[in-house]
Amino acid sequence: MPMNKNIYLTSLYFAFASTTAIAHQNNNQAIIFPDQIPQAQGNYVAASKVESLKPGQKVDNLFDLQFDDKQATIQKLGNNTYWIGVNYYNTTVIVDDNAGVMLIDPLGSERVDTVLKAIKQITDKPITAMVYSHYHLDHVGGAKQVSDYVEQHQTEPLRIYSSAAVYDKILRHSEKDDNNQIKAKVPLPTNVIKLDRAKTIKFGQQKIRMIAPKGAGHTPDNTLIWVKNDKVVHFADMINPDQLPFYNFAGAEDFHGYEEDLKWLLKKGIKGQWQYINGGHGNIGSIDDVKSLLGYLDDLRREVNKQLEIAPYEPKLSDRNHFIWVKRWQDTIAAGVKEALEPKYGNMYGFDSGAVETHAIMVLFDIVDH
Ligand SMILES: [Zn+2]
Repeated sequence: MPMNKNIYLTSLYFAFASTTAIAHQNNNQAIIFPDQIPQAQGNYVAASKVESLKPGQKVDNLFDLQFDDKQATIQKLGNNTYWIGVNYYNTTVIVDDNAGVMLIDPLGSERVDTVLKAIKQITDKPITAMVYSHYHLDHVGGAKQVSDYVEQHQTEPLRIYSSAAVYDKILRHSEKDDNNQIKAKVPLPTNVIKLDRAKTIKFGQQKIRMIAPKGAGHTPDNTLIWVKNDKVVHFADMINPDQLPFYNFAGAEDFHGYEEDLKWLLKKGIKGQWQYINGGHGNIGSIDDVKSLLGYLDDLRREVNKQLEIAPYEPKLSDRNHFIWVKRWQDTIAAGVKEALEPKYGNMYGFDSGAVETHAIMVLFDIVDH
């Protein structure tokens, strides 16, 4: 997800307000602010850093807690794992009596100080490990602040874990200084793991499984991090429990792979391997959230197919340009899909943000291109 959500939302809003007006005579879209959104039905409890959440429960009142970069919401999961949310960006923290603290995704530079303060509220053990799930700066951009903090405040060194794919991506986006030294935007991982098959990091009594799911749906380097003892998975940008997916499914680079990874994830959950999911955004999720998301994809596909009967794929030249027809056609279909989904999804967070139209368009091109 992009660094500056607010600017992105505003520009996309205007983009959609103008396109849907042409296609659908519907220009009354507006960003719905959190306090206008009813929470989904479910089992909500007050956030607690002492008492573990039961599987299927969610943190209550997140809409009020999360829109402040200076405020963290902490929730214990299982015996040793904690979910920390800041402004709808979430990190996973594992505390082991002997090994110290492992931080999975430090978040972006504007939120990391709040994450560090939240860790201090959980434990005074040193931060000895940090893991990068994937190289997107909104999830790992604050890593330098963590390593600086560790240098200043503790004697124990910090190990930084990532897959080889993440490491390569960091290098690819780095520059070299005049002495030919790499200038990366985040500290380079000290422990690089080749994920040709799943590997385990032993962190005190904790076993942390690093897995590169085959679909590579979000990005080719996205790593699923499974905290085995506590049955927690950290799988960034794949799901926003309690919300609709972000624009373009949070920038899924491969829509087909995205769906494939979600189905695989659900299978592992049904087998009982995990009970909690941190998608890096939204609330704490469960197996039911993955099921609902896959249901949403089915609903989208069904409605896109219905729209294709009304507005078939028949590219033609219009206004002396062959791009224009495609744009009008996809916007007409997206508007029709959104209208059809309104009764079921209309009260969900993000429904009127323009996100649904981007989902419909991605599903549409997945259908007509393959
Ligand atoms: Zn990402």
